[in-house]
Amino acid sequence: MIQIDEYTPIVGQSVIDDLKLLAEKLKGRTVQHINSTSVGGGVAEILNRMVPLLRELGVDTKWDLIKGGEQFFEVTKKFHNVLHGRKEEVSQRDFDIFMETSSKNIEEINTYGDIVFVHDPQPIALVKKRGNNKWIWRCHIDVSNPHQKVWDFLKDFIIQYDSAVFSAPGFSQKLPIRQFLISPSIDPLSDKNKDLPQETIDAVLNKYGIVPDKPIITQISRFDRLKDPLGVIEAYRQVKRYIDCQLILAGGAASDDPEGIQVLEEVMARAKGDPDAHILLLPQNDIEVNALQRASTVILQKSLKEGFGLTVAEALWKAKPVVASHVGGIPLQVKHKYSGLLCRSVEGAAFAIKQLLNSPEYSRRLGENGKEHIRNNFLLTRHLRDYMLLFLSLYHPEDVVNL
Ligand code: UDP
Repeated sequence: MIQIDEYTPIVGQSVIDDLKLLAEKLKGRTVQHINSTSVGGGVAEILNRMVPLLRELGVDTKWDLIKGGEQFFEVTKKFHNVLHGRKEEVSQRDFDIFMETSSKNIEEINTYGDIVFVHDPQPIALVKKRGNNKWIWRCHIDVSNPHQKVWDFLKDFIIQYDSAVFSAPGFSQKLPIRQFLISPSIDPLSDKNKDLPQETIDAVLNKYGIVPDKPIITQISRFDRLKDPLGVIEAYRQVKRYIDCQLILAGGAASDDPEGIQVLEEVMARAKGDPDAHILLLPQNDIEVNALQRASTVILQKSLKEGFGLTVAEALWKAKPVVASHVGGIPLQVKHKYSGLLCRSVEGAAFAIKQLLNSPEYSRRLGENGKEHIRNNFLLTRHLRDYMLLFLSLYHPEDVVNL
């Protein structure tokens, strides 16, 4: 178990002292997180780190999962896609399926927390159970331009919460409840992000047949069309015409994302016949992800839509030069030509990757700036502080600024 004091050398003593002070004020309250999966994707990634640290700080924190079958997760994935602007037909049957499973969860899940902290649309209907405890809805997706019917459906639930939290200013919506802007974070001491010995990195490369002496372009993402895996392959091909390089396109499966295997098959078919294009279905293994990121020459995040994009923060924390799309929370992390390069097309991505591969000194500078940008803004300690202030604000709606 990592102790909170171990973060002091990374963020400084005053940040840790602040956290302890805030935790003290929350003594006696129980915070209950609820989401739909414990593995895969950004929400699980954050909760796996945040929950133990809040407990260690003395805040009684619990984490519960809703249950759902294949049909339910197909519907919630569709909601996710259309909220992100993808064109898909949403029928009354979809809403019915959503409500059937929601009703079961409403019956079965005990919402005992003083503060019930509900993540994303899947468990949103649980708010029907609210008593006189406090309820927060945490939206991790970009709903700046949502499918109106789905948004209206969700909004009926959202307005029953005390507060809503969004990841970036552009994502917020007109709502009659209080809204907070809190960006996600990464844990610098987790297996995903901690320093690794070179032997570990070499062993992972060896396991997947990747050679260390040819530039490596990497995207780590669930196999999801919104991560544009085919665009990644195309950008790599355009680069490879000029620079001999390798591609790693790696992802695992998330239990609330039923589309993954189909997308993986499409990607495999597209990359077939190129021994330098490594399409990897990863086991849930944070050290392997960490090693692949550290072994990379350039990290790509070619998403068409994105919530925050934790993979970008993970890459920048490793001081890697990053090429990433100008979508979702990515521009908060990548300041163009300062902490990475932003792109808006396959051609733009290929051009930026070539520029980085041809300019090691420029790449190094971008990576270093990126690391400091993450240190100052997107580490777990800042996130813990924001959440504890949010919890306290529920009890002190007037004077949160004075806490
Ligand atoms: N991730 C992982 N293994 C994989 C693919 C992704 O551990 O095979 C992690 C990744 O390192 C990151 C998170 O899952 O921590 C993905 O979060 P992000 O915000 O980038 O995207 P999301 O999946 O939430 O859309």
